[in-house]
Amino acid sequence: METTSTPTHCPYCALQCGMNLSPTPEGGVEVTERVDFPVNRGALCGKGRTAPAVLSSRVRLTSPLVRSGGTLVPATWDEALDRIAGELGAIRAGHGPDALGVFGGGGLTNEKAYTLGKFARVVLGTSQIDYNGRFCMSSAAAGGIKAFGLDRGLPFPLEDIPKTGCVILVGSNLAETMPPALRFFTELRENGGTLIVVDPRRTRTAEQADLHLMPRPGTDLALALGLLHLVVAEGRVDEEYVRERTSGWEEARAAAMAHWPEHVERITGVSVPQLREAVRMFCEPEAAMVLTARGPEQQSKGTDTVGAWINLCLATGRAGRPLSGYGCLTGQGNGQGGREHGQKADQLPGYRKLDDPAARRHVAEVWGVDPDSLPGPGRSAYELLDALGTDIRSLLLMASNPVVSAPRAAHIEERLKSLDFLAVCDVVLSETAALADVVLPVTQWAEETGTMTSLEGRVLLRRRAITPPEGVRSDLEVMHELAARLGVEKGFPTDPEEVFEELRRASAGGPADYSGITYRRLVEENGVFWPCPAAPATPTAPTTSASAMDDDGEDAGLDVFPEDPARDEAAPVHPGTPRLFLDRFATDDGRARFVPVSHRPAAEEPDEEYPVFLTTGRVVAQYQSGAQTRRVDELNAAAPGPFVELHPRLAARLGAAEGDPLAVVSRRGRAVAPARITTGIRPDTVFMPFHWPGEGRANTLTNPALDPTSRMPEFKVCAVRVEVVER
Ligand code: SF4
Repeated sequence: METTSTPTHCPYCALQCGMNLSPTPEGGVEVTERVDFPVNRGALCGKGRTAPAVLSSRVRLTSPLVRSGGTLVPATWDEALDRIAGELGAIRAGHGPDALGVFGGGGLTNEKAYTLGKFARVVLGTSQIDYNGRFCMSSAAAGGIKAFGLDRGLPFPLEDIPKTGCVILVGSNLAETMPPALRFFTELRENGGTLIVVDPRRTRTAEQADLHLMPRPGTDLALALGLLHLVVAEGRVDEEYVRERTSGWEEARAAAMAHWPEHVERITGVSVPQLREAVRMFCEPEAAMVLTARGPEQQSKGTDTVGAWINLCLATGRAGRPLSGYGCLTGQGNGQGGREHGQKADQLPGYRKLDDPAARRHVAEVWGVDPDSLPGPGRSAYELLDALGTDIRSLLLMASNPVVSAPRAAHIEERLKSLDFLAVCDVVLSETAALADVVLPVTQWAEETGTMTSLEGRVLLRRRAITPPEGVRSDLEVMHELAARLGVEKGFPTDPEEVFEELRRASAGGPADYSGITYRRLVEENGVFWPCPAAPATPTAPTTSASAMDDDGEDAGLDVFPEDPARDEAAPVHPGTPRLFLDRFATDDGRARFVPVSHRPAAEEPDEEYPVFLTTGRVVAQYQSGAQTRRVDELNAAAPGPFVELHPRLAARLGAAEGDPLAVVSRRGRAVAPARITTGIRPDTVFMPFHWPGEGRANTLTNPALDPTSRMPEFKVCAVRVEVVER
């Protein structure tokens, strides 16, 4: 039967659930079930189901806005683009290229992330580019590269989870952040496997666990060391695996043996019997996994914490073997691809290092520039934002809302206000866009085609299903227009497939090699796992392509992604790589590296003045800074605002009742939200979701102390005092 629906993917989290978009009689679009995508098999959470509401939102921007006399007023595209190009050119002339900051997002498609990095380095010549993915999974990425030589969030597909024997899930509330993923863990338990959840809160995810460990915030590293100590003490080390496939064991072993279980119990609050039970559950099955998320990663020792959990996997022979391994559950929609293609301060496309001369030569050749003209690494996300208004005089920002999502957010808001010039591309007037000098209204997920790389490392094609409204343009068109105005005569490509063809060449031979992937393959194969090198040779010239839609806005199907005419039909095609490290790790000697790590406290511990831990996180009906989901009535009704979750014992001490307004005060500021009293949290800890601006903004409180390797801020733990607000 003929169908007019378009198979595509959700605009939000890194699960990238498949969905169909079908036109409605009213001229809109609705989400319908898409069962052929194996990750979600048709299931969606409320965010994905209601995503079309943002496309037709009454607060959707459809005209550029330019600040005039202190107010943002509608302007033509030429006026807005001329203003941006003029301001950036003048600031560069007066202060040098590094006075121009660029900030991207983990929601940008691979094509946009790639083009943004190229735009910053080739057109602006600035080193000052980073993105909000730094706040997401950078500690896991750094830990993975140290241990395995390569970071790909999950080195195995999600479908392996139900077949393993035990999963330790550290600091993930996936039942709320990506609900369809919960089925993999339900199936694991139905198959006889066990689930251990590590979280200071009894979340909906923790309720599913066979064993729930509730450590004090900021002590996940000590917990992993305690488990490794017991693995050694109980003779559970896989000696042959350690000998054959790893290096550095003796130093890591010595570090773990210095952390006696009783000592770990005092640090973490997790009892020795619970530690022993976790070790038994993890070590007895043939195969097991450790999966981390933001809980252990968003700490000022996030990289070492990830390293400690990887050490546990290595000592027990749980990495690079079937149905076993360490993985990170990346959060943002394109958090994985966004870190591979050059919008990160220290990276070039293909996950190449910006300070690697060979990488610079390769990418410069693809870009047609002198490698010596490419700037070196710049500041990390928080450091970049913190420098706004000092040596960084302007910022071009895409797909991010740091006024809500950055740590120490009130300070970052002031830094944004102190800029000479701020330009923001967004679909609505976010809290950050409201501060801008120019706001450009851009197309959304369903209105454009592009690739996303899911948390599995599966590259996917998100397809255009509807025609964008009059007045908006794609981020690629914005960068093309600005490049043309700033001296690149032909501008940049605006067709996503043409950009992807260039990205393929730029990534060829790099750690994240996409050179064997084509749009056509993505459609035919329902996504392809990287690395996927071209075989036998990388195309040398971009192909041209049509959009995924014909001019009528009607889905034109596979024909719009033509076969490369240069392709040899008989040549072998690389199948992609769903499972990494089965033969060797991506290190020089093929061995995984233990990293010796020791416990150290959080950058800020409770004291007399600030006696309680604050930890932050997400709720099921909102996504990240809420810029999109707060504009959806159904989601707002389900999650209308922030709250302070606290234990009855702490509430009693404060004299707080359910719903009372509580002021949460840290060294960085004060936030107010109603009390939500539950026994599902440690009595020494309060929790706030971070999706909202204003009085209840959780990130007013959070600590920007940075991990020395990943430069991840310590979102997950700081010290606060809590007071009932008299009203
Ligand atoms: Fe979208 Fe994530 Fe929800 Fe799936 S789980 S529908 S990808 S927000």
